[in-house]
Amino acid sequence: MKAAVLYGVRDLRLEDVPKPEISDNEVLIRVNACGICGTDIHIYRGEWKTNTPIILGHEFSGVIADVGREVKGLNVGDPVVAEPNIPCGSCYFCRMSERNYFCENLEATGVTVNGAFAEYVKVVASNVYRLPKAYNLDEAALIEPLACCVRGIDQAKIKVGDTVAIIGAGPVGLILLQLALQSGASMVIQTDMEDSRLSLAKDLGADHTINVTKEDPVESIKELTGGYGVDVAIEAVGKPEAITQAMRATRRGGRLVIFGVSPEDAVWKVRPFELYDKELTIKTSYRSPYTFQRAVKIAVSGLVRLKPLISHVFKLDEIHGAFEVAEKRLEGAVKVLVKP
Ligand SMILES: [Zn+2]
Ligand SMILES: [Zn+2]
Repeated sequence: MKAAVLYGVRDLRLEDVPKPEISDNEVLIRVNACGICGTDIHIYRGEWKTNTPIILGHEFSGVIADVGREVKGLNVGDPVVAEPNIPCGSCYFCRMSERNYFCENLEATGVTVNGAFAEYVKVVASNVYRLPKAYNLDEAALIEPLACCVRGIDQAKIKVGDTVAIIGAGPVGLILLQLALQSGASMVIQTDMEDSRLSLAKDLGADHTINVTKEDPVESIKELTGGYGVDVAIEAVGKPEAITQAMRATRRGGRLVIFGVSPEDAVWKVRPFELYDKELTIKTSYRSPYTFQRAVKIAVSGLVRLKPLISHVFKLDEIHGAFEVAEKRLEGAVKVLVKP
């Protein structure tokens, strides 16, 4: 099969490799589409370490091409998505209910084991979710980031009527926006550096948008909330400056969710007095523990619109161009999909 194999920093090669061989509890998926995630870009740049050579790609949809002998309830031809995270099931954290993603032996399809920038990917059957035939399979490639956002919105504990600020209007910020509205936010304010992303945020229901290159987001958010700041702020950028903006835009006694993943060596400078004075609740959000099933329901029910987030679709042969567009956010890129 054709696959994009990463050999090292920015060394991505299109190759013919053997089709994955499945074991009794695994499923072979013919890939329909795979999204490029910030994680892929970090690994591609050498900012996050993984074992190479590897086929990246963990945000994928496809159709089942083969099932192992012990697999029940899944059949060849089923349209599916799959959760990438593979906990071991027997370490200290795995035995502590929802903390399974702190697994000491955690593997992940497309991160530590071969993923879906390829014609086929194999996945353990218990990670596979069947979709209705009518659901758009390109859109389905965004169910994985949606599952991570469901965790983030759970951490935000939005109450009906809360005012919410989302810092950043990338794919994840735009999903969090929709989840905040569905959670009963009375007003959602979205910030970003790109007008094109902000106009998409408006289309998806943001009440106010702020271009941080043109106005001070903290001042503007305070103005929009009677001088107090929002009840809940969610940082969806992955930069210390964005966390500071989110913190300052939150009212006294409010909640701050640090959702974006900053580079491993980034440092957040904060005056502890500011946190003391506000008595903030600060939450972080790690992957998608037990949220994938809900993400499938949210997507399939239409509660969240994923299609408008797909800005580019590339063929697997054009994966170098696809990575360039995603990395440099060319042409108003939001979510870039790669299709074999
Ligand atoms: Zn991802
Ligand atoms: Zn474990």
